[in-house]
This record gives sequence, C-alpha cells and structure tokens, in this order.
Amino acid sequence: MITRRRFARTLPIVATAVVASGKSMLEGRSVLAQQRAPIGHFDPKGKAPSKYTVEVLKRARSELPFADDRDFEEQRRGLIAPMPDLQIKADAGHVAWDMERFQFLLKQPEFDSVHASLNRISVLNMNYGLYEVIPGIYQVRGFDLSDISFIRGKTGWIVIDPLTTAETARAALKLFRQHAGGDLPVTAVIYSHSHGDHWGGVRGIVDEADVRAGKVTVIGPRNFMQHTISENVYAGNAMNRRLFYQYGLLLPASPYGYVGQGLGQGVPAGSIGLIAPTRIIEEDIEDVDVDGIKLVFQNTPDTEAPSEMNTYFPEMKALWMAENVTATLHNIYTLRGAPVRDPLNWSKFIGQALYRFGREAEVMFASHHWPRWGNARVQEVLRGQRDLYANMNNQVLHLANQGVTINEIHNVYEVPASLQKMWFNRGYHGSPQHNSRGVIQRYLGFWDANPATLIPLSPADSAPLYVDMMGGADRIMARAQQLHDEGQYLLAQEILNKLVYAQPHNQMAKDLLADVFEQIGYQQENPGLRNSYLAGAYELRQGIPAGEMANSSSPDVIRAMSTELFLNFLGIRMDSAKADGLRFTINLIVPDNGEKFVIEMENATLTNLSGFLADKPDLTITINRVDLEKIMAGTKTVEEQVASGVMQLDGDAGLLGKLASTIADFDPRFQIMPGTKIREAAVKTAGPYEAVPGATIPE
Ligand SMILES: [Zn+2]
Repeated sequence: MITRRRFARTLPIVATAVVASGKSMLEGRSVLAQQRAPIGHFDPKGKAPSKYTVEVLKRARSELPFADDRDFEEQRRGLIAPMPDLQIKADAGHVAWDMERFQFLLKQPEFDSVHASLNRISVLNMNYGLYEVIPGIYQVRGFDLSDISFIRGKTGWIVIDPLTTAETARAALKLFRQHAGGDLPVTAVIYSHSHGDHWGGVRGIVDEADVRAGKVTVIGPRNFMQHTISENVYAGNAMNRRLFYQYGLLLPASPYGYVGQGLGQGVPAGSIGLIAPTRIIEEDIEDVDVDGIKLVFQNTPDTEAPSEMNTYFPEMKALWMAENVTATLHNIYTLRGAPVRDPLNWSKFIGQALYRFGREAEVMFASHHWPRWGNARVQEVLRGQRDLYANMNNQVLHLANQGVTINEIHNVYEVPASLQKMWFNRGYHGSPQHNSRGVIQRYLGFWDANPATLIPLSPADSAPLYVDMMGGADRIMARAQQLHDEGQYLLAQEILNKLVYAQPHNQMAKDLLADVFEQIGYQQENPGLRNSYLAGAYELRQGIPAGEMANSSSPDVIRAMSTELFLNFLGIRMDSAKADGLRFTINLIVPDNGEKFVIEMENATLTNLSGFLADKPDLTITINRVDLEKIMAGTKTVEEQVASGVMQLDGDAGLLGKLASTIADFDPRFQIMPGTKIREAAVKTAGPYEAVPGATIPE
C-alpha cells in the first residue's frame, strides 16, 4: 500500500511556476480563462476567484452573525503557554505537524478565495498552546487535529484523548509538564471514542508496561475495540482515496488551496499506536472512581462514532462532550465514505447529557475546538446542537415524505434561521447539503424512485450520446465557456462533465471543468466540499501524481484487527474472476486464543465461519494468533512461518498457493475523474502536506 505522505510528496512544484502549457492548448478559451495563475497560486493552471465568486462570498458574509465574537474570547481564554515550536518532528525524521504553513491566515483578515465563515473557523483553530479550562483541567490545543485534555486526580493526571500520533502527544505532554503538570504521573487514559485521532498517540504519553502493571488505567467506551478499525477496513482503500478529496491531501496550505479542516488544521504524520483499554465502560451511565475523583460516564453509541462516551466530572461541574458537541455541524454522512450516522439518536444523547449534567455544569469541553464557560452558555450550545441534529433528521424526512428525493433534498432543505445564526452550528465538517442527502440515504437509500435512475448507464457509456446530441465538443465548449464566464458554474459542470467522460483525453475540456470546479470550491463554507472541488480541479489539470509504494500499517493497528475481520477482508481482496472453478475447504485453528474457523472457496467466493470446523477439510492450518499477526502485518510470509514451524499444515499445502494467486493488492491511486491516470514522470518535490496515518482514519 502507498502511504498518503509518499503520494503527496510527488506534487508538482508550485507557487513560482508559470503557465507552461502551449498556446494551442488554450485556443478557444476566453481571455479570462487564459490568464496566468494569480501570484501565490500553487497550480500553474490555477485561477483567481471570479467576480461572481467574490460576489457570492460577499453576500454570504453579510448573512453571517459576525457581531457574536464569543468564540474568540473562549478560544483565547486560559492561555498559559503558546506552542514553542510551530513544527513537530516525527521520529522518522520528517515533519509530523506544521502550524508554520498556516501563518498566512493571520497575516490578512480575509481572502477573496475563501468563504468568510471557513476563514473564521480556520483562524479560530490557530489556537495552539496550553490552556487552563478551570483549575485542575487543562488542554493542549493546536498540536494535532484533536485536543488532548488533562484532569487532576488525587495522585496524578487523567488524560482524555491522547491525539493521533505519539510525536504530537509527546510534544503536548512536554508543554503541559513544563507549565502545569510537573512531574506527577499519568494515572489514567480515557479514549472518548473509536476514531484514530483520539487514541493513536497513546504511546507518546504512557508506557505499555505501566498499563500492564496496573499503574495506568486505560478506559474506553462499550465496544471500543470492535470499532477502532473495523469501520475502516472493508472499504479502506476506497476511503483512503476519497480522503484525498475530503481532506485535500494534495493541496498546499494556501488561500487558493487548503485552509484547514474545520475540526482542526489537519492530520499529523507520525507513528500511531494503540493500547487496548483495561477498563471498558459497559453501562449506559456508569459512576467510576478514577484516581480518587468521581467520573460519570455516559455511553453514546451510534452518534458521532459507533462507540463513544461523554464524561461528567461532578465535583468540578465540568462536562466533557467527547466529539458529540464541538463547534460545528458534524458529519451525518462522511464524504470519505462511512455508514450514515443516526442524527436522531445523536440528538437524543445530547438531550440526555443536557438533562443529566448540563443543567448544573459550569464548563463544557470537548475533543476538538475550545471550551464553553458558564451554565447559560453550556445550555445554549447543548440545546442548539440537540436541535440541529433533530431538525436535520426530522425535516429532511418531512420533505422526503412529501416526495423530495435524494437528488433534490440539498437544494430544498434549509437549516432554520435561528440555528444558522449560531456559529457552532455552521457546517465545518458536515454540511447541510451532504448531510441532508445522507439522511435520505439512511432511511430510503440511493434510489429516487424514478425508473430512469434505477439501472442507469455508467457515466462513460451515456456521455458519448449526450455529446453527440449536443452537437459535439466544440459546441459544448463554447456554451460551457459562456456559462463559466457568466458565473453559472453548476450548469457549466453539468455539460462539461459529460464531455470529459466522453473524451477523457480532451485536456481543454478538463481544464475548463477544472476552472469551474475551482470557482465552486472557493464558494464553499464547508472545508470537505471546498477540498473536494479543488482536489478534482487539481487532478483534472495535473493528473494523479505517481508515488512510491510502501506498507504503513502499524503493528498495533494490525493487532486490533480480529482474525475474523482479517479473513473477511481476504474475501474482499479475493478476485472472483481468478477463482472460477476453485473449490476447497480449509480449517484454521488458532490455539493461543482458542479461535477456529472453517474457510471455504466455492462458487468463486471465499467465505469463513467462526466457531466451526469442517469434518473433512482439504487442509488444516494451525497457527497461534501471535504468529498469524506477522503474516497479517506483512512482516513474515506464509512460507517463512511454515519453514520456521510456527504454522503447521496438514493436507494439501498447495491450496495456499492457489488462494494467494487470487488475492489482489489495492492501490489508492485509482482514477476518480476521467483522463487523470497516474503521471508516469512525477515531479520530485517535497509535498507541502507531510503525511497522514496509514491504517486509521481520523475524524
Ligand atoms: Zn476527532
């Protein structure tokens, strides 16, 4: 598998580049389209925002509640020490975290290529340093996508959510120790939920030996281990590819490119580890004494994550809302791809937190963004967020029940005006557009019930007829150029998309579609939408960069994968076309953990069943889980494990070779936009985006 960091490192040189393409490429384009990239644009083919885009952004700005600047007071409050060095180095030598590249956000109040609301959250997310929440509770923010929190126990510190990587967590702990934490030990670690940016850095703050010795308790919500990686395995390669769009991984930080991710400025590029919880919170509500103080845990399954919990500290009247309540409308549908979340359930759990804890809490803090102080403010945010998710669920279904479809809902549903005026309800992670479509997807699925969309042709198969009927490429280009020049970008994208599908090698068409995408991207408040349009534009103009191949799965993450999950994924990697006619049965016995599986290849399908063995298998494999993990991680081959005797085969050993011949490797560089296949001669420059973890997907 290729790492995203290596992939990103193959970016073409930017900023200083001028238009390199020949004049012939630009013939037929308007004066506007032929302009050079504006100074500071990373892409030689990039364009400045058009007068229409500037107008759209100006209008959007006038409707935003800028008079309410409480977020800035809250974001600043309690600063003890800023980040000493704006870059954090990874153990492997590269830059793991870089706030330097976002300094442009502080040098100019606004940019005409960035939505004012997105600009605002990106500036708010420049709050890097150590903060006091209240005496006894501290947060390091801006060292990672997420925040790390420290709560004073009787004998040491309770840590909530140790960031994404060991390097960023270690740097945060160091700053905390210097200014507030002293030498007191870490006595407990709490994982609020199963997403990687809330546990991946645990090895930067505690020693596994101390956990094993019982000196540190690691606490997680119900079903934590089942969900830490399972959400991301089966469709993992597709999700990784889509992250390039949602998180704009190839886009340099720039007013014309990446301006942050809403939840935080980005994802760090360090080492990811996982220490399994030693104490799981099983009850819906559970009171636990942790290092001498009382914690009340509230499990909130199937909300922001499948496994998540809030925590209340009654002695301090402090409410930790995990990632259930942050300073944004969160994802109900996630652009990288994930099962659609349950907004009604989410809203109910916020309501429960409000009635159980929120009526007396004096401070509320979370795993992203900044705290809220004072009971009135705590209640205001809890009520606003509760209503936001409930409204989105109920009113989208209200409209669906009147016939509005998944293909229309984003143009029909509107968040109520009062909720829109609350900054913490703005769409910095979820957007009303993609979330509303997600709600319909959850309840009704992809089909709008129009038979014409039931078994549609693939885009590449229908596009040639469209192009033919529209009078050919020249007519489409002329009309699309006109629409582009009038600022009618959504209409221009309709017809250009057809042309690009029909003629994937028509670079003029791809460049014009890229120009259209870029303007739509600039107009977005939501960073995921902005990044997706800008990433699409980038690939249409430059192609998909080639990258080196490397395996980036962390051993901890492999260990967290159950044997069944691994076997299920093998069935996904198995190429049916190569398995035609194969038929065999394998028993897998795993003595050290007592697991057993029957694995059958039949009908070009690989299945497995836990807890059963076949009476007459063609092959029986006996291997301990600890040795199997080395095969799963790719550090040992099957042959090596057989040769060393840790893997015993009884029966037809040749079946393993047959099985292996059907297994495919997935490459996350597959094409999304037509005609953007991997460039053979990649320009060798260091990418401005340093890296992201391999096998976990943060959120
Ligand atoms: Zn998160």
